[in-house]
Amino acid sequence: MESDSFRAFFVVNPRSGGGATGRHWPALREIVAREFGPFDFALGASRGDSAALARRAVERGYEMIVAVGGDGTISDVAAGFFAPGQPRPIRPGVVLGVLPGGTGGDFIRALHVPRDPAVAARLLRGRESALLDAGFARAAAPTGGEAIRHFVNVADFGIGGEVSRRVNRSSKRLGGFLSFLLAATPTLLTYPPREFRIVIDGGAERQVRARGVAVANGAYFGGGMCVAPEARLDDGLFDVVIFGASRRLRDIPRMRRIYDPHRPPGALPGAETFRARALFAEATDSGPPALLDVDGENPGTLPASFEILPAALRVKRGGHSPRQQPPAIDHRGAANAVRS
Ligand SMILES: [Mg+2]
Repeated sequence: MESDSFRAFFVVNPRSGGGATGRHWPALREIVAREFGPFDFALGASRGDSAALARRAVERGYEMIVAVGGDGTISDVAAGFFAPGQPRPIRPGVVLGVLPGGTGGDFIRALHVPRDPAVAARLLRGRESALLDAGFARAAAPTGGEAIRHFVNVADFGIGGEVSRRVNRSSKRLGGFLSFLLAATPTLLTYPPREFRIVIDGGAERQVRARGVAVANGAYFGGGMCVAPEARLDDGLFDVVIFGASRRLRDIPRMRRIYDPHRPPGALPGAETFRARALFAEATDSGPPALLDVDGENPGTLPASFEILPAALRVKRGGHSPRQQPPAIDHRGAANAVRS
């Protein structure tokens, strides 16, 4: 007999949010039990564990796998829906759920999942879900060979790869925004423009001079930067954003507009956005290997390719009451609103 909610398995990453998820887990556990009764879960010991735990739960037949943690945990749990290196999910009907583990997050924001765990846990009930796109990245691995990663939010290379490497080396205890700012500032001031050759949808080739390029499924990254205000999670396309090489002094304060999701098109100096299903990129200058950031991880460097996987993930996303989201993103995903 079909229950009124998905049979769920919770993958908890206690290290998420600088340990906030681990500290909040006893309270979160009670909240989940109030909504689901007795439930199954596993605590990962390290970040890589989340993907393996999720994959095992998918294979064991659970209907929904809930990531308890922040953006990194969600990305890893989503990766567990796929066999390593395979673009199709292991069991296409399985639903990805999200329970924020005491920290905010960029992808959590794009999903409209509320930060209040009691509200977020209630949203996990019911059998509604939305089909969303995922990304598939192949890069040159640091140890040679190829690094392959699924992603749900944003992949980028150039300046973003370098910033993300610094963020990952620093403590994230200050929260997403401050950690990002402290780690990013030296890079933002010194990262030189690079020369990239990009191939769009396997056809059009372009040579670009840029500090970085973002391949966005979600709209936000870097602790609240709205890299792609018009990005939709369900249009089968990436929003590709090229950050040009302007060094004019008057442009520097204008870059703050990246935090404004309501900014008009063209408000970011030197930035260009287009949509694509696939992107190949390589550095064509004599600089060091250009680092990749994929959902906050650093799997490798250019050359790399990015492919959208349309409607690859069934996801429990948040509701759309006006109080829960800023008006500018009302239109996004409205057709996929959870109707419970
Ligand atoms: Mg899209």
